[in-house]
Amino acid sequence: MRDVVIIGSGCAGLTAAIYAARANLKPLVIRGLEAGGQLTLTTLVENFPGFPKGVQGPELIGLMESQAAVFGAEFIEGHVTRVDLSRRPFVIEAESHTHETRTLIIASGASAKMLGLESERKLLGHGVSSCATCDGYFYRGKEVAVVGGGDTAAEEALFLTRYADQVSIIHRRDQLRASKIMQERLFGNPKINFVWDSVVTDVLDVDRGEVTGVKLKNAKTGEESSKGCHGLFLGIGHSPNTSLFRGQLEMNEVGYLMTHDGSKTNVPGVFAAGDVQDHIYRQAITAAGSGCMAAMDAERFLEAEH
Ligand code: NDP
Repeated sequence: MRDVVIIGSGCAGLTAAIYAARANLKPLVIRGLEAGGQLTLTTLVENFPGFPKGVQGPELIGLMESQAAVFGAEFIEGHVTRVDLSRRPFVIEAESHTHETRTLIIASGASAKMLGLESERKLLGHGVSSCATCDGYFYRGKEVAVVGGGDTAAEEALFLTRYADQVSIIHRRDQLRASKIMQERLFGNPKINFVWDSVVTDVLDVDRGEVTGVKLKNAKTGEESSKGCHGLFLGIGHSPNTSLFRGQLEMNEVGYLMTHDGSKTNVPGVFAAGDVQDHIYRQAITAAGSGCMAAMDAERFLEAEH
């Protein structure tokens, strides 16, 4: 029987592990399918406080994990296949083992939706990015493209205009889905142009290990073309990793876990931290902060029970 099990090993899960371990709760961290979370998909992180020269995403995650281990957090590989939150202790099944726990911290994150191209996957972190706030700075004076037509794409594009000379929004239709106010901002920005009715069919150039452009197909005419750019930002949305909790925990209409009074979910003893419950900020530092909150909430919950 565990006091605390943490699902997820990104910034939120690892910060929760550091705090829970220092509270002597010997947390068990189940790493998950995308171990280390989204930071492991990025390169230089320049906005995490404490690193004036920046820090590589995977290195930062490695440091957090070592810090949690120093205080006694335990880690297991693998991925949770079932949870039962209907009774306590909660039951968590992962890689054919069953774990029982008094409290559960869910930090399973969100995954940026991908186009599904081989070249996109290979160039992720080398010109393909899903986070303008993280990587926009590297495109000072350059040309970048953003795929998508919703608020995420709009935000990414607007943020990128701070650095890039030209930002092209590539959208598969001829109308944006983004909110009116965002649309107005986009249309009013001289650095932003639109490539309508277009689907990205390939990202160039895998052989060079960097982005030099994209291949496009017109969704109406089928005409193929290419467009040069130095970076490609995916703005086609994120999916919270919450399918396991459907029917057991309250979620919003797109599947993000609902929290209240800090990190509490609707089930007492179950807490949520990081991107799995935050579709607005989605930063490493905010995920870390909410991981700290979840560990403190779990500790207080256990204390109140005894
Ligand atoms: P949305 O689902 O709203 O938009 C996704 C966009 O990506 C759509 O334009 C969609 O095209 C396009 N798209 C999806 N899949 C593909 C694909 N495979 N290939 C090409 N294009 C694709 O997601 P968002 O992340 O933009 O927004 C999610 C929610 O979060 C919304 O409610 C939004 O308002 C909110 N949000 C709010 C923000 C804010 O208020 N500041 C910031 C970010 C998000 P199509 O239009 O054709 O379906």
